[in-house]
Amino acid sequence: LDNFSEASMAISGESTLVYQEVARKVQREKGIRVINFGIGQPDLPTFRKIRNAAIKALDEGFTGYTSAYGIDELREKIASHVNTLYPNGKPVKKEEVIITPGAKTALYLAFLLYVNPGDEVIIFDPSFYSYAEVVKMLGGKPVYVKMKWAEETGFSLNVSELEDKISSKTKMIVLNNPHNPTGMVFDPKEIENIMELAKEKSIILLSDEIYDYFVYDGRMKSILEDPDWRDYAIYVNGFSKTFSMTGWRLGYVIAKEKITKKMAELAANIYTCPTSFAQKGAIAAFDAFDEVKDMISLFRRRRDVMYEELKKNKWIKVHKSQGAFYMFPYIGEILSRANIQVKDFAIKLIEEAGVTTIPGEVFPLEVGKNYLRLSFAVDENDIREGVRRINEFTTRLM
Ligand code: PLP
Repeated sequence: LDNFSEASMAISGESTLVYQEVARKVQREKGIRVINFGIGQPDLPTFRKIRNAAIKALDEGFTGYTSAYGIDELREKIASHVNTLYPNGKPVKKEEVIITPGAKTALYLAFLLYVNPGDEVIIFDPSFYSYAEVVKMLGGKPVYVKMKWAEETGFSLNVSELEDKISSKTKMIVLNNPHNPTGMVFDPKEIENIMELAKEKSIILLSDEIYDYFVYDGRMKSILEDPDWRDYAIYVNGFSKTFSMTGWRLGYVIAKEKITKKMAELAANIYTCPTSFAQKGAIAAFDAFDEVKDMISLFRRRRDVMYEELKKNKWIKVHKSQGAFYMFPYIGEILSRANIQVKDFAIKLIEEAGVTTIPGEVFPLEVGKNYLRLSFAVDENDIREGVRRINEFTTRLM
């Protein structure tokens, strides 16, 4: 029973859970309330009308399997929603939409569909950890492109390095905008350059736009704005963040019909279909954009508070987040002066200051070694208190 498959051994395990575990221990043993900036989900309950629609579906007995694509009514809602948002090209049809159990599964299906052993997939460093893990699981090779950073402008995508990293084995480029963990909304020009590059070199562009509603500054460029996106791109989004539905496990892919059809075949053999009554709830999400708007205003205020509080710390360099709900401050100076690694710093921060963060290194490699990820999907008073604790702790450490 100990001879696990190569696929399962290729992944390194979910390392962010360690920090929540330490936090629980500190809370239990020291009796202090740990403030949690480590979470990757909105702190609000799922909006009432969505919950009601799912409850109604349950009460009416909508509890059986659905099509592997998900239910038509939801696929149609998604298609008409993106057609309103991005009216440029040939409209998206429901056949080009497949509902999945979370955006993670959408990404998984996309990788599964294309990555053969030895294929290279270009992933930005830093990035959401799961991209590289799944690529490795399938025998593919993540090829990292380091983002560039400056305090004034934040991270940029470094398209020239990306171009240098393209080889005959490059199968895909993974793009995430707005970005986890940096909180960047990338310059539309940079996104356009990557779209051009993918098109020109026949590389599949996998675009994870799950934070598309979380934009506070700047303009978010979607791949669906290009009338020719079907020639080279796969679009991923989901309900988890925008509608605070992380536990419902609902995401989706938009891609040309040949792709969604093959994905449905894979889905039928892996998980059959997304949860039936959850899908009925998601239909009502399209009537909840007023609630989404209120949530984004709330998050914008929280972002401003976190930024102002972090700015008070002279040892930290921080670029104001423009999107998602993360701040990604540079703490390299603290780490080198205190001669400590970012992971140990994050543990000490929980144990000695009562604040949970995620060390940048888990996203997934080099660049993050000098950064911390802080989520501002947290009550405003807790943001003030938590950052005050961080500032006090770093002063003590220096
Ligand atoms: N993509 C990014 C960039 C994320 O940050 C997350 C969640 O943290 C996901 C995808 C996964 O979302 P889901 O809950 O829909 O699987």
